[in-house]
Amino acid sequence: MPRVAMLSRAQNMIDYGADCQNRFPSLWSATAVETDPSVPLDGDAHCDVAIVGAGYTGLGAAIALQRKGVSTCVLDGGFPGWGGSGRNSGAVIRGFKNSRSVLEKEFGKEHGRAMADFGATVSDEVFALIDEFSIACDLKRTGWILPAHNKAGLARVEERVRLWTEDGFPGLSMIGRDELVRQLGSRHYIGGMIDREGASLNPLSYARGLARAAISLGARVHRESPVVRIDDQGMGWSVETPRGTVRAEKVLLATDAYSAGLEPSLDRSTATVHTNVIATCPLPADIAATILPGEQAVSDIRRILYYWHKDAQGRVLFGTRGNLRGPRSARDFDHVQQAMLSVYPQLKGQPIEFRWSGKVGLTGDFVPHVNQPRPGLWTSHGYCGRGVAMATAYGKLVGRAMTANLAIADLPVPNGPAPGLPPEPLRGLGVIAVTNLYRLLDAVN
Ligand SMILES: Cc1cc2nc3c(=O)[nH]c(=O)nc-3n(C[C@H](O)[C@H](O)[C@H](O)COP(=O)(O)OP(=O)(O)OC[C@H]3O[C@@H](n4cnc5c(N)ncnc54)[C@H](O)[C@@H]3O)c2cc1C
Repeated sequence: MPRVAMLSRAQNMIDYGADCQNRFPSLWSATAVETDPSVPLDGDAHCDVAIVGAGYTGLGAAIALQRKGVSTCVLDGGFPGWGGSGRNSGAVIRGFKNSRSVLEKEFGKEHGRAMADFGATVSDEVFALIDEFSIACDLKRTGWILPAHNKAGLARVEERVRLWTEDGFPGLSMIGRDELVRQLGSRHYIGGMIDREGASLNPLSYARGLARAAISLGARVHRESPVVRIDDQGMGWSVETPRGTVRAEKVLLATDAYSAGLEPSLDRSTATVHTNVIATCPLPADIAATILPGEQAVSDIRRILYYWHKDAQGRVLFGTRGNLRGPRSARDFDHVQQAMLSVYPQLKGQPIEFRWSGKVGLTGDFVPHVNQPRPGLWTSHGYCGRGVAMATAYGKLVGRAMTANLAIADLPVPNGPAPGLPPEPLRGLGVIAVTNLYRLLDAVN
């Protein structure tokens, strides 16, 4: 029986014109060096795999598939990097958020261990692609610092270093308070760790570079091509946009936090939150010299975390959780500025040049999932705010699995779909309740 998923604007589809990106353009849209190589779809097309979503997942998959001789067509209603991939803060962090012991408990000893091993290597794929395709994205391989604001947080950081070191992954070490004050240029934290494999980059340049790489391997990448309907025709799929239909043997939905109505299993298992980022103007040299002299990326151990680093022009960009519906005015970024000043009082009076926001896709178990809800239809989503490296690596993994006809249980990812979440408005209320609880816990433990 053919199955049709059809979107109507009233029902679910992203309203690209109303997205907060239009009112609050990001730092990256002003500073990206790579240009967008995509064009809108105009007319019908055929390919082996149609990919919905031109972020790191979709483009990583297209590159992996094209390398195996499988033709791909990537469709995005916005443009490559329109979603999280062009708006994030640009920290390249390896590993799942959950530790190896938690992964083993949740997914079985052997499978959890395979996931932890895979997680430790995900940033290698980012560095390899940037190198192979000479992507100009201001990559700084200077490390990632995870500082703790209290003793309970410090214990969680210490456990991470202990487990990763026991597992034989080099590169992590603790940093004592005095050295941390020097490295961060802030007295806000009591200790932390550094992962020397961490990095930062211009995320929109990276996304555009991946699009260029996919096209150079033969992929078609189409901007301004919103998919309004996917239709299982038994012998393949038709993927409809307003200006043309793509017929393909298989479909990958790589829409993460921007999944909207195309596939019920994605809708059931994805919660979204906005995270807001601000960037100062390029700082005067004397102030810039006091902040992150080693140019690392930072995100702290808070459950509702603060994250920041310096861009290539010497701005500080700083982010934390926004509200559920997204920003409506500059005031919706005031709490981000207050957080930044609590860490860096020396930034008082520095003008804020950019404010922007994007959605993060969460799953119920805080781990990204690959799923195949129907034969020929694949999904990959739920990076929980850690997608620069993870989504790139998941994309490659899914691309390979689609060509080799692997079962999901054979991949180092959760061996089942993401848990179902309550429907709206309960889901949104749950997110608000958990956010408030986490803020409370962050204050006391
Ligand atoms: C502000 C912010 C800061 C972050 N900071 C970091 C960080 O520092 N480090 C880190 O590792 N991760 C970070 N993340 C998370 C990371 O950006 C994401 O996990 C990652 O980009 C997800 O990539 P993706 O390709 O799966 O999805 P996305 O990049 O979100 O791409 C999904 C695409 O699907 C398209 N789409 C959806 N529906 C349709 C449709 N019907 N038709 C056509 N196209 C459609 C959208 O237009 C979108 O471009 C951050 C996220 C945000 C928002």
